[in-house]
Amino acid sequence: MAERFPAIFVSHGAPLLAIQPGPAREFLSGLGKTLGKPKAILAVSAHWESGDAAVSAAAQPETIHDFYGFPDELYRIKYPAPGAPGLAARAQALLGEKGIAASAHATRGLDHGAWVPLMLMYPDADIPVTQLTVQTALGPPHHFTLGEALRGLRNEGVLILGSGGATHNLREFGRHPEGAAPPQWVTAFQEWLAHTIESGKSDDLVRYRSLAPNAARNHPTEEHFLPLFVPAGAGSPGVAGKRIHRSHTFGVFAMDAYRFD
Ligand code: ZN
Repeated sequence: MAERFPAIFVSHGAPLLAIQPGPAREFLSGLGKTLGKPKAILAVSAHWESGDAAVSAAAQPETIHDFYGFPDELYRIKYPAPGAPGLAARAQALLGEKGIAASAHATRGLDHGAWVPLMLMYPDADIPVTQLTVQTALGPPHHFTLGEALRGLRNEGVLILGSGGATHNLREFGRHPEGAAPPQWVTAFQEWLAHTIESGKSDDLVRYRSLAPNAARNHPTEEHFLPLFVPAGAGSPGVAGKRIHRSHTFGVFAMDAYRFD
């Protein structure tokens, strides 16, 4: 039997994470070794949104440089991991059992929400990867259900990886220099999140928008937070998640990571 993998959520911050040293980069660079090598990866990135569920089925996904105004060096990075059309089909079948229809996208590449963490975690780029979309309009409970539907993949040697941001206010990004201390409205939300996850309060987690302090300010839009609910839903019932990293970039981006066993 394949090794059982935890499901993981990571914060990817700005694309500069790929090249700029810092605590989150250091953490991600060690995370692959900590987890070991999965047979395949199913990534849910904030940077691929759709109305209904979709999975990527390209045999050799291209590296998508879906960001603007960053140093040239970033646009030259390639993450040539193979695609995972077999895993994509398996995910479609598992989602179908829960009544969720997912289409397969034949040519979609890897966006930076997927490849930036992955190039740090698994620099050899030899693990097949598929992506599942964030279905932003459908909200947190739906994404938790996606995770529940896919939970069984963890027993098949698959790493389920959500990539977004523990906090992500893009309008405030740029008003705070790299290394700035986080404002209280960021840390209050960040610590509510850690407490809620580590207490196993999934019902509160999916209601974060009405329960957490400054939820709308930390997530004016939800696409960077929704990838958290897929690994959270993929965690075993009754087993609380754990925060495995805490740091900040540009003051307002909490770079926290979680594992769900
Ligand atoms: Zn992002």
